[in-house]
Amino acid sequence: MSNAQYDPNNVFARILRGEIPAERVCDSKHSFAFYDISPAAPVHILVVPRGAYTDFHDFTSRASNDEILDFWKLVDKISAEHSLIHHGFRIISNIGPDSGQEVPHFHIHMLGGKALGPLLSPSNT
Ligand code: 5GP
Repeated sequence: MSNAQYDPNNVFARILRGEIPAERVCDSKHSFAFYDISPAAPVHILVVPRGAYTDFHDFTSRASNDEILDFWKLVDKISAEHSLIHHGFRIISNIGPDSGQEVPHFHIHMLGGKALGPLLSPSNT
């Protein structure tokens, strides 16, 4: 399966290839989780599919059911193993320019470890 829009040299692709170090959280057949280099909360974990997908829509429309299930099962496993599920946590995925997505490889942010406050500041409405 190819995706002409995908930049194979984006930072997460390089992490997946082992070209850039990352602090691994855990992984699975189709997915990889690591700590964000610039945490926005006490717990800030990034989860990515191993496959070349630019964003949530690209992943959901082109990935196999096996990859999609593997991804969300790993997210759930992390939430249990890192005690996020107990106090609550937030999942964010930035998709495209309006979101400010920096890295064009689909990923979700798992944020927790404290009360996170409102989703967006009032000035954003
Ligand atoms: P986005 O804005 O694309 O949703 O978020 C990208 C995230 O990747 C940011 O939170 C940023 O701190 C993180 N990030 C960028 N470069 C690196 C890196 O080299 N290593 C790790 N672990 N995280 C990174």
